[in-house]
Amino acid sequence: MDVMHSQRLHEKLLSPWIICKKEGSIISAHCDCVAGLREVCTHVAAVLFSIDEAVRKLEDVTRTGVKAYWMPPSNKPVEPKLIYEMDLSSPKRKRLDEIQSEYVMKKK
Ligand SMILES: [Zn+2]
Repeated sequence: MDVMHSQRLHEKLLSPWIICKKEGSIISAHCDCVAGLREVCTHVAAVLFSIDEAVRKLEDVTRTGVKAYWMPPSNKPVEPKLIYEMDLSSPKRKRLDEIQSEYVMKKK
């Protein structure tokens, strides 16, 4: 993988390399920049970040990659109604109101 210099963009691309094990431990690294002779430089790090991102993308499951997990729509027949006849309150709110009225009833 070729990597650009961070400050001298017109110079020849660098060719850092890395030897690592399958589980990710790094055995050796090298780069042809000045700091790369010590096997530690930002270009080697850039390659490692790039590999890390590629592996994460491979492991990522997209929304369309899994079977539908949401509730399927009910097949109950829907009768047409006038708006004022419709119950548009949330079931969760209704349940809270029921609990509250039961509590009030017990207190009396
Ligand atoms: Zn380097």
